[in-house]
Amino acid sequence: MAQVTMKYPVSLRITQPLYNQLYQHLFPGDGDEHGAVLSAGIVETSKGTRLLVRDVFLAKDGVDYVPSTRGYRALTAQFVADKSHYCATQNLCYLAVHCHGGQDQVAFSVDDLASHERGYPALLDITKGGPVGALVFAKNAVAGDIWTSEGRYPLNNMVIIGSQIRSLYPSPKPRPRTADPKYDRHARMFGDVGQEVLSNLKVGIIGLGGAGSLINEWLSQLGVGHIVAIDFDRVEITNRPRIVGSTRWDAMEWLVRQPFPWVQRLGKKLAKHKVYVAQRVAKRANGSIRYDAIVGSIVDESVAKKLIDADFIFLAADTAQSRLVFNALVYQYLIPGVQVGVKVPVDQKTGAIGDIFSATRHVHPFAGGGCLNCHELISPSRLQEEALSLEERKEQQYINHEDIPQPSVITLNVMATGQAVNDFLMMFIGLFEPDQLLYHQMNKVRQRQSDLVEPMIQADCLHCSSHERSNRAKGDRGSLPCL
Ligand SMILES: [Zn+2]
Ligand SMILES: [Zn+2]
Repeated sequence: MAQVTMKYPVSLRITQPLYNQLYQHLFPGDGDEHGAVLSAGIVETSKGTRLLVRDVFLAKDGVDYVPSTRGYRALTAQFVADKSHYCATQNLCYLAVHCHGGQDQVAFSVDDLASHERGYPALLDITKGGPVGALVFAKNAVAGDIWTSEGRYPLNNMVIIGSQIRSLYPSPKPRPRTADPKYDRHARMFGDVGQEVLSNLKVGIIGLGGAGSLINEWLSQLGVGHIVAIDFDRVEITNRPRIVGSTRWDAMEWLVRQPFPWVQRLGKKLAKHKVYVAQRVAKRANGSIRYDAIVGSIVDESVAKKLIDADFIFLAADTAQSRLVFNALVYQYLIPGVQVGVKVPVDQKTGAIGDIFSATRHVHPFAGGGCLNCHELISPSRLQEEALSLEERKEQQYINHEDIPQPSVITLNVMATGQAVNDFLMMFIGLFEPDQLLYHQMNKVRQRQSDLVEPMIQADCLHCSSHERSNRAKGDRGSLPCL
């Protein structure tokens, strides 16, 4: 049996579509008790444990959920056996669900707790260590009792991930403290609660170039509490008009402007990493921000793992490999994100400028949520190309996208990132309607035209689908497509 000692707090994450299914089943309006089982992946970090809902199995009233001699109603032995067997074979956690009356507060009954004590030691055996457990819902509250072979843990909260990101707790949270006076104008819009939500977020930014450096500045000004910035590049003189807060010294201009190639090379080597410029900008905006400046690549698994307990991820790096890993993080760990980019096509012969696009592509962890793989935005040939070293590419005469400098202008980056960060804000402070659609948005800059892209779903996608081999919601029990 796997030894599982979980870190507290334990939270549960569920996507809006799955939550809607569960909610409609538990609260159809008859005021009665109903049951279900959830399967869930798990993420464990030093800061806590997340259970990630992968499947919702609704128990049919009178068939799978029946009157019980020991309590009011219970799942049938057959239903429990089927679903726990499924969880065992899929290496997922098993969670039994039922509902009580009430609105904002909920707790297990004495009968509920007695049934956990009778049933869960055996279920832990069947599921090879689980964890297993139970959840009880009121309309606006949830409590949980999670078991591992090492102990028993209460559920701290459940996060529902949709166009609104909201949390349910066993009972209403105390009023938040008054926001810092500098956030007065924020608080007038989204309250001390909204400001506190932002201060508790961990947000990843992949790529701190032109687009990422804007996102970094805005998030830190908004009061986001923790930023993880990932980029291996140093500031170059040609980045300076776009990288927020970069100085001549960061780019070592006094060396790279010298006429001697070896001095220029030295300057480039000594230039500051982009993540450290971003860190300086963030700390100036918010002295109490927690900032992880990571010189590295998201393709490296040890770097990607820094984001597995993030609340949101911005992808502002334009390689197929970073898209692949970002997309996998979103679905495997149920972390919503957005990819931003700008394309300025130049005719290599004539120098003519084609249609300029800025793209803001939300990627949210459910089918139809904008999966980059389903939208065919992760090019297999570019993945292959990028896997080759620079030497190998030269040898095989690949002309890599990255090897030719592309046009880039700060205000074009603002179009893609401004939309992305506003959407992020609306999601977390609850100003989007719960059914707000967040389709990929493409701005044709020269035509002043904005287009939405209908979601695409590939039934057997290994990121977002329910296919047996898909890693959706598997957390630590799936594997990331890293090198
Ligand atoms: Zn109960
Ligand atoms: Zn997909």
